[in-house]
Amino acid sequence: MTNAGKWEKRWHPIFEQWVVYAAHRNTRPWSVEKSAAAAKKEKQSYDPSCYLCPCNSRINSTVNPAYEGVYIFDNDHPVVGMNAPEVKDISSETGLYHSASAQGIARVICYHEQHDLSMSTIPKASVEEVFLAFQTQTKELSLKQEIQSVFIFENRGELVGVSNSHPHCQLYATDFVFENVQEGLFASAKHRARTGRTLFADIVEEEKKAKIRIIAENEHAIAFVPFFARWAYEVMVFPKGEHQTLTTMSETEIRGMASLYREVVRRYDGLYGFEFPYVMSLMQAPIDGEDYDHYRLHLWLQPPLRQPNLQKFPAGPERGGGNFMADTIPEEKAAELRAVKL
Ligand SMILES: [Zn+2]
Repeated sequence: MTNAGKWEKRWHPIFEQWVVYAAHRNTRPWSVEKSAAAAKKEKQSYDPSCYLCPCNSRINSTVNPAYEGVYIFDNDHPVVGMNAPEVKDISSETGLYHSASAQGIARVICYHEQHDLSMSTIPKASVEEVFLAFQTQTKELSLKQEIQSVFIFENRGELVGVSNSHPHCQLYATDFVFENVQEGLFASAKHRARTGRTLFADIVEEEKKAKIRIIAENEHAIAFVPFFARWAYEVMVFPKGEHQTLTTMSETEIRGMASLYREVVRRYDGLYGFEFPYVMSLMQAPIDGEDYDHYRLHLWLQPPLRQPNLQKFPAGPERGGGNFMADTIPEEKAAELRAVKL
């Protein structure tokens, strides 16, 4: 079976960014009934139908090892892959329409062997182990010539489309830089040229001065609902050291940031008493050998809920217009998260 024409990148000439088409993934076996039933079931520490649990078979009949702690494997149905078909770039007459191969590496990172745990309930040492694995992955992938960027993200909860609740996240190592990182690079380069200062360091300074939006802090990292939050409970976590990517962080710094991140997730879960859905993105500078001294690594959490059972749907102004209309004020949401008893 060929994936030609089904699996490629296409250039978006208005937003000036790549759109990745992975239509070959539509062929992956997927049972909605099965996942709905699984969601209703009381969660067990081991689920025989989960393809991420130890010793279970995955889609391609690979059997997971009897792993303990972090387990990482190449995604069986990747969005980007080193085996993506070659794409002959047939540029249109205007040169606007062109495509390229969806090259890259997509991996799955299981946080823990136990199915019923999550980022907030796995032990602190396990969260640290997860972040150390993020660092090892970034270091390893930065050695590959064709990789420009390592993007790690966790989609948590059915509201953001997750059907398997086994604690895990994903990694995309790509030959392009994701747009939100790119936007941060542009803005921070502009800020540097204008002021000689570092945009992200200035944001942290502003938040430290204002204090009211800080929700957690330790020796190595700080977490806050930013002044400019678009989602009600949006949170950013910055390491206190100056790092463009994870690769330069010391083990102590990584452990410190991991432990603060765990606290943020525990605050989320404590807020309404259930596993709070969110999209977590690890925002790091490209690993293409260039110096991005104006950029600072951070974690970015975007939860879709503004109240239990009340979801923010990005609609006309957000999707169509591109500007967020927020229904809440960051200072109030930060106070709520700060008040959660852990
Ligand atoms: Zn599982």
